[in-house]
Amino acid sequence: MEKQDLFTEEVEPPGSQAEEEKPPSVSATSREHISHFRSEAKTVVINPPRWAPRFVVSNRTREFKRRFFQDVTLSQWNDWRWQLANRLVTLEQVERILKLSALEKEAIVSKNGAVPLAITPYYASLLDPEDSDHPIRRTVIPTLHEYVASSEESGDPLNEEGDTKVPGIVHRYPDRVLFLVTDFCSTYCRYCTRSRLVGQRGKLPSAKDQWERALTYIREHRSVRDVLLSGGDALTLPDEALHWLLNRLREIPHVEFLRIGTKVPVVLPQRVTPSLTRVLRKFHPLWISVHFTHPDEITPETTQACERLADAGVPLGSQTVLLKGINDDIGTMKRLFHGLLRIRVRPYYLYQCDPILGSAHFRTPVSKGIEIIEGLRGHTSGYAVPHFVIDAPGGGGKVPLLPNYVIGREGDHLLIRNYRGDVYRYPDPIPRPSEVKEENTNQG
Ligand code: SF4
Repeated sequence: MEKQDLFTEEVEPPGSQAEEEKPPSVSATSREHISHFRSEAKTVVINPPRWAPRFVVSNRTREFKRRFFQDVTLSQWNDWRWQLANRLVTLEQVERILKLSALEKEAIVSKNGAVPLAITPYYASLLDPEDSDHPIRRTVIPTLHEYVASSEESGDPLNEEGDTKVPGIVHRYPDRVLFLVTDFCSTYCRYCTRSRLVGQRGKLPSAKDQWERALTYIREHRSVRDVLLSGGDALTLPDEALHWLLNRLREIPHVEFLRIGTKVPVVLPQRVTPSLTRVLRKFHPLWISVHFTHPDEITPETTQACERLADAGVPLGSQTVLLKGINDDIGTMKRLFHGLLRIRVRPYYLYQCDPILGSAHFRTPVSKGIEIIEGLRGHTSGYAVPHFVIDAPGGGGKVPLLPNYVIGREGDHLLIRNYRGDVYRYPDPIPRPSEVKEENTNQG
């Protein structure tokens, strides 16, 4: 791991806990908070916070900051609100930092895509300034490829709209709902499954009165025991708004389990403040799925963010989308999953890339995912092997895909193969007709 430089700042102020109890005003929601910043093309100055935690700045990022944000103090850099206010959203801002290819430049200028352009300065520090094929650069910088829609692609391939019961609530499975609480993300991924919604102001409820309708729906459906907060990115909400929302959900007796899906620890790790973790730890059991894509994302900053969450008792899993030319080989995936285990994140899902409009250049054959799982299973710790799934088009839910380890049967033995291809006979007697009959009688 890269050498880490710790930056010392003040401690949190007294009284911040009391503020957490207040319901958020509409203006406290991040979309409105951020849309103000988004319109600013120049560097936005935010006064250093009254408090800020000690947060790591890696050598690579420190050097980037010295080159491109020389006048910005470390205190400002480590303030997640400064990071949001100074996202790269225009051609000029991106060009100052990256040498753009013709494909990238034209794509940014024409602004034809569904997903807006926005990258936090921190995440920009991880991108290769010269190489447009750099894996994580491809995930956030548009190219003309995303304007080419192929057959079979659609704006809503999982038919989430069809399962939307009230604005923001997707209810597909009996016992759980997806609660889309904001359309805002700090950094937009070019392959986003919700490209029809993210960054589109007004398409999702992100104000208290609109959340109330969703909460009423959950309250009235007693079968819902599991609520997944997503969006957009729920962790971009201010602490007070998040506290209010989690508190309201916890007041519903049949909601047993809360989850948050987020890319914040990866693209905006400074957001994981002690104040945020204090909010989260009040609402256990609360789990977080972190969206990781590539081992280059595992930095000292990301490590610190994940460790803070884990130390707050939040179990962490990862969700990774399989992307052509970005992470579609066994070596890259192994580095990613080993790295995740080191920072206390359990690799959970590996997704086949959904057929959203203009995503063909990101999609691999399904066989590539199976090949990767086969290259991991048995070759490394079981905890480092995620479930490879396709989210079935039209809303069929997640379908797990596995290499075929059962190769046949010989009488009362199953023929199975291990990760090396060695074949084994496992005793698995076929039930005789008399045994089946006896079992049925006992059950009757
Ligand atoms: S962070 Fe998630 S919701 Fe936001 S753009 Fe990326 S994939 Fe979409």
